[in-house]
Amino acid sequence: QAKQAGRNTVRFFNPQMQAEISQRMKLESELHQAVKEQQFELFYQVQINHQMQPTGAEALLRWRHPTKGIITPIEFIPQMEESGLIVELGYWILNSACEQLDQWQKNSHTKNLTLSINVSSKQFKQAQFVEQCREIIHRYHIAPQKLKMELTESLLLDDINGTIKQMHSLNALGILFSLDDFGTGYSSLQYLKKLPLYQLKIDRSFVDELTTNNSDQSIVKMIIAMANSLGVNVIAEGVETLEQQHALIQMGCEHYQGYRYSKPLPIDIFEQYIQQASINAYSA
Ligand code: C2E
Ligand code: MG
Ligand code: MG
Ligand code: MG
Repeated sequence: QAKQAGRNTVRFFNPQMQAEISQRMKLESELHQAVKEQQFELFYQVQINHQMQPTGAEALLRWRHPTKGIITPIEFIPQMEESGLIVELGYWILNSACEQLDQWQKNSHTKNLTLSINVSSKQFKQAQFVEQCREIIHRYHIAPQKLKMELTESLLLDDINGTIKQMHSLNALGILFSLDDFGTGYSSLQYLKKLPLYQLKIDRSFVDELTTNNSDQSIVKMIIAMANSLGVNVIAEGVETLEQQHALIQMGCEHYQGYRYSKPLPIDIFEQYIQQASINAYSA
């Protein structure tokens, strides 16, 4: 017994842990390098309305690693949040997204598209965040209601009053808010009614088995009913099949995002997709 406890206390010298620590340090130095060398890129995933017309896109971060190819955010965002690197990268994301939106504003196929970006809590809580947004919105002449920010429930819950104040300042710049992964967090209805939200984004986990799982059906119906009574828009993420889309339409959800329409795409391919969609809409 004592021997076992003794063994546990020397965990720090455990070679497996040692390996994990050095791997994390390696990732961290690679991430610093990646920010410096601009190895990041935004992919764009289309958002569709009930008439099957594109209304906008969500910008999703990708890391074009020099030897490993494209790496998705789950593999590096947590570490970037921990190290604080996400703040610098977040500024780059905001700036790049708005630069793109400005391009879209000037082209007939894309001028009505909105663009959503994911904002991490560290970035949102920066003292200069509102000022940075103001500067970028003006730099790129972003029209009101074109830029959306996706926030998560956990971000909103601590310092709720400060958060609401900041959301109002950003609203005044024309920025809209979407509550990402909705249903997976713990926000109470008390909080929800106070937040200046434009949209609730139903988490993919409820859409996955929507056509077969009764509880998921009830949850999605409840989210839609709640959104309607709060007067906010609803979008479902992770829509992969026609059956899921039909179920969502029947429940009154009018905006969708998921592989059924398109995966997140590099910018040139995304723009081809949009152009094709608008040609199809004209000939229909
Ligand atoms: P999220 O914001 O909830 O994004 C949705 C994720 O679901 C994306 O994964 C997207 O590629 C994936 N997805 C979309 N449609 C489908 C579908 O039909 N089926 C399935 N199975 N998956 C689908 P991705 O791009 O790997 O991003 C993962 C998460 O990383 C995002 O979740 C978001 O929380 C975070 N993230 C992505 N880009 C950024 C960013 O620029 N900044 C910050 N702070 N976080 C980001
Ligand atoms: Mg998102
Ligand atoms: Mg989401
Ligand atoms: Mg998600």
